[in-house]
Amino acid sequence: MNPTLVTVLYMVSAVLFVRGIKLLGKAATARRGNALSAAGMLVATATVLCEREVIGSGARGYAVALCAVAIGSVVGAVWARRVRMTGMPELVALFNGFGGLSSMLVAVAGHMMKAPDDAFTASTLAATVAIGAVAFTGSIVAWGKLSGNSIRKWSRVPGKNAVNAATCALALVAAAVYSASAGKSPACAAAALAIVSVLSLALGFTLVIPVGGGDMPVVISLLNAFSGLAAAFAGFAIGNTVLVVAGCLVGASGFILTLVMCKAMNKGLGKLLFAPDRKASGSRGGAAGESREPRAMSVEDAWAVLDAARTVAVVPGYGMAVAQAQHAVKELADKLEANGAEVFYAIHPVAGRMPGHMNVLLAEANVPYEQLKTADEANPLLPSTDVAIVIGANDVVNPAAIEDPSSPIHGMPIVNAFEARTVFVLKRGRGTGFSGLENPLFTRENVAMVYGDAKQTCTALAAEFGA
Ligand code: NDP
Repeated sequence: MNPTLVTVLYMVSAVLFVRGIKLLGKAATARRGNALSAAGMLVATATVLCEREVIGSGARGYAVALCAVAIGSVVGAVWARRVRMTGMPELVALFNGFGGLSSMLVAVAGHMMKAPDDAFTASTLAATVAIGAVAFTGSIVAWGKLSGNSIRKWSRVPGKNAVNAATCALALVAAAVYSASAGKSPACAAAALAIVSVLSLALGFTLVIPVGGGDMPVVISLLNAFSGLAAAFAGFAIGNTVLVVAGCLVGASGFILTLVMCKAMNKGLGKLLFAPDRKASGSRGGAAGESREPRAMSVEDAWAVLDAARTVAVVPGYGMAVAQAQHAVKELADKLEANGAEVFYAIHPVAGRMPGHMNVLLAEANVPYEQLKTADEANPLLPSTDVAIVIGANDVVNPAAIEDPSSPIHGMPIVNAFEARTVFVLKRGRGTGFSGLENPLFTRENVAMVYGDAKQTCTALAAEFGA
């Protein structure tokens, strides 16, 4: 294909990516943004397939490339269609990992096809392999922790800071050897690149395994940034402009999201990744509820309190997503409003399992945007709120984050639901949240547990108000 046409098509796809990301910023335009970005990817992929240098001149190259596109498209489409909403975060973590792996494989293939003979290309290639490998194994661990399988229990790497520093330093030395031996000693370069790969794959594991408590959201957005960065470096290594643009967009937005999440969690990235080992205390946190058992309440009794309430805060969490309770929550809120109560929703930035999880679900149930308040906006209102209904939330309302300096989530801002006059917690039983910590909120005097599936409980509460 004509090189000018290739450049123009790459520019078209870059513009589609940029416009798509802009539209993704608002719920109302997000679908269009997603479609535009997907169109940009289609244009970029089709253009790459038309480039002779990429595919080669024979039919075999096309056959292999088209088979890969077909298999990838079918697997991706079927998987994305089948995944339940609660499984989305795991899927996103896995896709991040595959992004990192593919950049790594592109770089390794680039080395095998034509080993770089200048230090710049060699160092970008080594950087692609290193960052892609960390993103891959780190994302696999994140996927395992999010899926709730046994990886979640692995939380200790003995001497993790020393191990990580040593692994990182050795990988950097191997990358420097690779860059220095580019074009001079093929055997030495190949060995150095293999060492970079192995060490970086190990580093992804050892960096992410100890991350626990409420810190996973930050790590996931950091891995997302890494997968973008790896793609950008891969673009430099193989001289592909659109890969550089797309990688930079993903990397930059991932880093911005990481910083936003760090701020929301009140934790620096360094503290999060390099904090010394601390065993989860599992503390009940705060003396207030030390010896009490949670107080259970029936739907009828809870309704009697709600019937008299003038202000009600809804605090949703992951359990609302599991129960798919958003429509029942809206129905209950409508009944409360018809009864004369003022209702608002207090949304914690890491409630659920992905950024914006609660906002997406509540928007699906047509909850008015003006009723959604961030934790910062909601907290000053809670002391004068009659009832806070905590719907499947746990970690994001855990007062240990404020009161127990030994808690792994100490310092994380929470929704101060405990400050409301009465708190109802809707959950199925005594299950802990993602962090695995006990929650002293449940044993406070002003708190009652309304046990059961969140959707069924909300529907039953709404039914108590009558038709
Ligand atoms: P949590 O994971 O802390 O708690 C969810 C609670 O929901 C559980 O205690 C569970 O209790 C309850 N639950 C589960 N199913 C149901 C159901 N069907 N009906 C009623 N309740 C149910 O959720 P939060 O939203 O409070 O906190 C999010 C956590 O996830 C934080 O630790 C955050 O750091 C982490 N995280 C967030 C990410 C993000 O980007 N938002 C990404 C990765 C992790 P029970 O079993 O007793 O019902």
